[in-house]
Amino acid sequence: MIKKRFYLIAAALVLLCGMLIGCSPQADASCGEDAVCEHEWQDATCTQPKTCIHCGLTEGDPRGHSVRIGTCPVCGEKSTELLPAYNHIMSELNSMVDAFTKSAEYLSDSYDFVTDLYQKEYVSKARTELYSCKRLIDRAIAFCADYEEFSEVKNKLNQLSAIIMDEKIMGEGSYKDIRSEMMNAHTKSLAILQNVLSDMKNLLA
Ligand SMILES: [Zn+2]
Ligand SMILES: [Zn+2]
Repeated sequence: MIKKRFYLIAAALVLLCGMLIGCSPQADASCGEDAVCEHEWQDATCTQPKTCIHCGLTEGDPRGHSVRIGTCPVCGEKSTELLPAYNHIMSELNSMVDAFTKSAEYLSDSYDFVTDLYQKEYVSKARTELYSCKRLIDRAIAFCADYEEFSEVKNKLNQLSAIIMDEKIMGEGSYKDIRSEMMNAHTKSLAILQNVLSDMKNLLA
């Protein structure tokens, strides 16, 4: 009799232990595919979607940085979304500086005393450089596209374009007049270009 009761108690204990240590899908996510996690969500961040802190499940998309280029004010990381366009624009701007510098060389004072023929040639060479500036400007503007971040740069490049393609520079006229217009335009253009370069630098900050 005592033996029988002992077996019953033992059996009950085994059953109880089984229930306690056994797999309970509701509570334990490690139990297998059927496991149900009671998700506790961490809000989405700039770079991570909404994520369960227990099982790592994600929902939706990351919020994305609050800027597309430069330092994100929310997380402090650098956003690189517009970096490819930025680098293209910078490359055109650097070539522009070179072309402007070359065109200025043809306007140097020392050419004042050369013959008419050379004067015409220098104007023509300076114009060639300005035309290549114009092509570089057009390409840079194309890379600015409709991105709001580059809208100010685009405005300034359009001003630049108008200055160097002015009739007083590209049209008919005396060497003296054209050269003086070119020199004015050159000074204005370089100032604008420096402005654009500083705008670009600020975007990256
Ligand atoms: Zn979870
Ligand atoms: Zn961010």
